[in-house]
Amino acid sequence: MRIDIITVLPQMLTGPLDCSILKRAQDKGLAEIVVHNLRDYTTNKHKRVDDYPFGGEAGMVIQIEPVDNAIAALKQQREYDEVIFTSPDGELFDQPMANQMSTLQNIIILCGHYKGIDYRIREHLITKEISIGDYVLTGGEMAAAIIADAVVRLIPGAIGDEQSALSDSFQDNLLAPPVYTRPAEYKGWKVPDILLSGHQAKIDEWKLQQAMERTKALRPDLLKED
Ligand code: SAH
Repeated sequence: MRIDIITVLPQMLTGPLDCSILKRAQDKGLAEIVVHNLRDYTTNKHKRVDDYPFGGEAGMVIQIEPVDNAIAALKQQREYDEVIFTSPDGELFDQPMANQMSTLQNIIILCGHYKGIDYRIREHLITKEISIGDYVLTGGEMAAAIIADAVVRLIPGAIGDEQSALSDSFQDNLLAPPVYTRPAEYKGWKVPDILLSGHQAKIDEWKLQQAMERTKALRPDLLKED
């Protein structure tokens, strides 16, 4: 899978994309994540990408021309399944969306900044708009990093133990059961006996029961879905 991220602040993405599973997936050739500086697609001397909004609102707006140039340059090299814009008014990002996106070949993620982007970009160039939650960020960079992380870890081979991604929270609409590791007792705080019993069927039953109970208590809305 290839993810091209277009941003005015590439440095906001270098850290998150270069660690842990995201790094390993790229090293293994399972994912290619390329960050593009929007300023490289400007035609003006000062590499300016924003301007004042029509109608006199506060804040600056990203202009259509550099974005159009950037997307066109990428599209010349390959076909894209989606051209995504990160936006607080987009479709709420969740596990089913991450699952679906992990099957795609090539995607572009455009990060907004400042007051937003010229709306014509959204009308004519964008195929999907995603919000990572009901709050407003300074820019779409962290949203893009979150989307890339959630999607890339689902690509087969990205996580060492493939079962691990499937047993995470939200797969099957259930929160994950608690996990423990050694020592079995610390300051008198014990790991549940069942996990030390070696009885796999009973352990699995306990995990499912814990997942159900935690979901009922913490996120009853998940059980009401579909
Ligand atoms: N004026 C806009 C917010 C601009 S915030 C509004 O009220 O809707 C600047 C940029 O940050 C946005 O263009 C978007 O790309 C990104 N952003 C902010 N909050 C986000 C969120 N919850 N999810 C995804 N992207 C977000």
